[in-house]
Amino acid sequence: MKYKPDERAPDIGAVIVCAGKGERTGLPYNKVLYAVGRKTVLESTLDKFLALPEISHVTVVAAQSDLETVKELTLPYPEVSVVTGGNTRSQSVYNGLKAHECDIVLIHDGARPFVDEQTIKDSIASAARYGSGIAAVPAVDTVKRINADGALASLPRNELYNVQTPQTFRYRDITNAYEKALATDRTFTDDAEVYEYAGYAPRPVQGTYENVKITTAGDLLRAAPPSCKIGAGFDLHLLVENRALILGGVEIDYPLGLSGHSDADVLTHAVMDALLSAADLPDIGVLFPDTDDKYLGVSSMLLLDRVVNEVKARGYAIGNVSAVVIAQQPKLAPVIYNIRKSLAAALGVTVDKVNVSASTTERLGIIGEGKAIAATASCILTENAI
Ligand code: MG
Repeated sequence: MKYKPDERAPDIGAVIVCAGKGERTGLPYNKVLYAVGRKTVLESTLDKFLALPEISHVTVVAAQSDLETVKELTLPYPEVSVVTGGNTRSQSVYNGLKAHECDIVLIHDGARPFVDEQTIKDSIASAARYGSGIAAVPAVDTVKRINADGALASLPRNELYNVQTPQTFRYRDITNAYEKALATDRTFTDDAEVYEYAGYAPRPVQGTYENVKITTAGDLLRAAPPSCKIGAGFDLHLLVENRALILGGVEIDYPLGLSGHSDADVLTHAVMDALLSAADLPDIGVLFPDTDDKYLGVSSMLLLDRVVNEVKARGYAIGNVSAVVIAQQPKLAPVIYNIRKSLAAALGVTVDKVNVSASTTERLGIIGEGKAIAATASCILTENAI
């Protein structure tokens, strides 16, 4: 049978625009490169488009100053290419359009990582059928106009929509529209306005209120509130002669000390295990085996430093740590604040985030007989949603 070109599935591409400076976030760099949790805003946005098999190619438009960083970020994705933006949004979008020809093109803000699959699909379907599909939601706030005399004038709210992206078009139409727009001095705030200027009628599709454009640093936190993971740790060491007693990195004046391969800082060991368990990492027995002479007599605070780095490298922040030292002797009340300060410094948090309390076992058992000290610790790690 003869091949009919109009029966093939349309080639669908996307242009992700992040050529602005994102100055309103107050960050010293482009907001799309801000990492929340394990990913940058741009990667989270890209993931939404790359998840759809019908989208064959994505062009990211980046500012010259971000070009190398963005290229590096997108290296794992063969279907993504990166081009440099222009002096205006219109020029940037046009650069993106010219980089890759297709039948239908989605144009999307790099700073809108919360777009959902349905909106993307609906905008493609609308563009295939009607020529365009512009994500929009009914205005929630009452929008008014300020008249020339300075007075507020009411507008009919049921006719007003907040327009978002994606804004999806037939490739040829929007490319032609941009060529017309760029031949004028006019400023266009979005693609639909360019399309309208060229004589087309942009058509809305239902967006979602979650599809916010991240503009300020506060938007990032509101948009991606942290989720929490709890961790628990426990340890016990025997008290022996001729050893220093170290708890939370603080040496305590006492005739006995804890025995162990490292400095046997039982409290710091429990704290490390709490952090590792919350991050779903192997415990300290696996990370720092007592069969390895590297760790003979080593300060547990150095090990804690490594654990904190491991946990942070996985995108977690430490919320708080709460620990209990279980010892019949010595009385810890006079040194507990120093212990809290020492642990807080190692964890990189303020002292109010590290609580340590002391308990006895009413003279019962090995701890009650003064032969051992144990410690338990719990912690909260936070992780942003992006
Ligand atoms: Mg231990």
